[in-house]
Amino acid sequence: MRVKPLIVLGIETSCDETGVAIYDSRQGLLADCLYSQVEIHAKYGGVIPELASRDHIRKTLPLIKQALAAAGITQSALDGVAYTAGPGLIGALLVGAAIGRALGMGLNVPTIGVHHMEGHLLAPMLEPDPPAFPFVALLVSGGHTQLVRVDGIGRYEILGESLDDAAGEAFDKVGKMLGLPYPGGPRVEELARSGRPGQFDFPRPMTNRPGLDFSFSGLKTFVRNTIAQHSDSEGALQQQTRADIARAFEEAVVATLAIKCRRALQHTGLNSLILAGGVSANIRLRKELEKTVGKANGRLFYAQARFCTDNGAMIAYAGCQRLLAGQHDDLSIQARPRWSLESLPAL
Ligand code: AMP
Ligand code: MG
Repeated sequence: MRVKPLIVLGIETSCDETGVAIYDSRQGLLADCLYSQVEIHAKYGGVIPELASRDHIRKTLPLIKQALAAAGITQSALDGVAYTAGPGLIGALLVGAAIGRALGMGLNVPTIGVHHMEGHLLAPMLEPDPPAFPFVALLVSGGHTQLVRVDGIGRYEILGESLDDAAGEAFDKVGKMLGLPYPGGPRVEELARSGRPGQFDFPRPMTNRPGLDFSFSGLKTFVRNTIAQHSDSEGALQQQTRADIARAFEEAVVATLAIKCRRALQHTGLNSLILAGGVSANIRLRKELEKTVGKANGRLFYAQARFCTDNGAMIAYAGCQRLLAGQHDDLSIQARPRWSLESLPAL
């Protein structure tokens, strides 16, 4: 059977980025537009859900128009609409879901609600040399830290995940403790560059017992105590000490993630590892994981930087694959703040 090629609009509004993209199953990505709300939330030190929803309302339709113009097509060329249905902030998800669903209905094309983490773990498929199934995926974002065995689209087995803070969340909280603006991840990385090795030795949580789960909240407390011990009577740290602490923290998170990835490759017998989610922008993490897969005679895959954080392209791609396989939603608007990756239907 020949499958009809599709042009799919993808809408991402699960958290603090409005992403809209257009993916063509024959030609690849036609347009990709992103608006980040980071500045809105920065002054509060974290994402304020109500402000996020309101801003998605302002930005989604203009971004759809912008994406159509960038692709050089009109709405009538669309064969389907994909939107992030979860997991994420309920109000934020509802904006993309309502707009996506309404657009699908108005254009009389099928609509599909995409799992945000499926979008992330398929993002490396947008690259010119994509990984082949099966592989192990490390998803490290602001809200999730998961190791997943991927045998195909919708064939996911969670091998391990964070029992408390996600890796990105730990970076953001430590950033805050070190007086850095939100989001802390990239700032901690920057500060860590001037940190000296071996000044502090932070724990690698849950690595001295078997298993593939993570826990970063104890490490965060360890950092807080270290900062308290080295602060002067005014609660201030010397600049070099701040950098040394940032470095030791980054090294501890990266070493922990690398140890668990090595175990996951051993456990599954696979040697392809894909790295996805916002924290995958971290250079020390990429370098360490390159070494890990090198030792397993394997390969590390990751998406280009703009597809590592939240974006519409990964949603358009994932939705397109599901629509090509004949899947689509009924007329209801899907928005699921919690949604298990393992519950998705296989293609
Ligand atoms: P996401 O949840 O996928 O949108 O990714 C956002 C998360 O990634 C936030 O927690 C950021 O602090 C984190 N992040 C982004 N860049 C870096 C980096 N270079 N190093 C560590 N964490 C990062
Ligand atoms: Mg985000």
